[in-house]
Amino acid sequence: MKLNELNKITSPYTSTEQMPVLFLGHGSPMNAIEENEFVTGFRNIGKTITKPNAILCVSAHWETRGTFVTAMEKPPTIHDFGGFPKALFDLQYPAPGSPELAKETKALVKKTEIGLDDKWGLDHGAWSVIKHLYPNADVPVIQMSLDYNQTPQYHYELAKELSSLRKRGVLIIGSGNMVHNLGLVAWDKLNTDSFAFDWAVEASEKMKKFILSNDHKQLINFKSQGKSFDLAIPTPEHYLPLLYTLALKEENEKVSLFNDKAVAGSLTMTSLKIDKA
Ligand code: ZN
Repeated sequence: MKLNELNKITSPYTSTEQMPVLFLGHGSPMNAIEENEFVTGFRNIGKTITKPNAILCVSAHWETRGTFVTAMEKPPTIHDFGGFPKALFDLQYPAPGSPELAKETKALVKKTEIGLDDKWGLDHGAWSVIKHLYPNADVPVIQMSLDYNQTPQYHYELAKELSSLRKRGVLIIGSGNMVHNLGLVAWDKLNTDSFAFDWAVEASEKMKKFILSNDHKQLINFKSQGKSFDLAIPTPEHYLPLLYTLALKEENEKVSLFNDKAVAGSLTMTSLKIDKA
């Protein structure tokens, strides 16, 4: 489809008040079916937000060469993990897609040619958390992939181009984990409340300080922040969705933290909501 044809599409997304932006620490896929404080946190934050026209989710679990958005009418629920109970594999989150929003997003972004995808769907980075915000699966959801060839600065700038969607009733969600080192999980401390290694505490505190002081530059340059960040972010995919969320913060907006806790030593569930101050 050519760009001039895209411009002729009449959008179903009317102009609205500016929607908040979220970063959700998704943690274990088990959060999809367990009752715990994090699930309660997701539900509570959902209640503070006007029901969106649609959701655009940047999940840690969809990395591609180039950037894509899901463009199918009915995105399948992808069970992209192994070794979990059958109940988790049986779970379906049948939220509709939005080919219209996918096309609008493609037309909006100038930084790169966004591909329209008809093969992905909703991975657990999206559905395991969105299901707690919208349990009836009645808000259309599209996902945007992470281009694994690009720099953190690139992702931050790309995210800024999505800004106008916030005034069309689109809730943009980054889904990952700020501190995420699966290789160093303290399995014996899984049930020890808030257990975190010293480096995880240090990285988490620094990240929150930079977030709350709007020092995004330091967060974009996470590879130059020393040992604690190196351990917290051994690979970038769970961290980059945070940059998408932060890039959309405007000057007159505030950041609220929730689910701000560590799990099993090397993960944090810290989540944030950005909205008007
Ligand atoms: Zn994950």
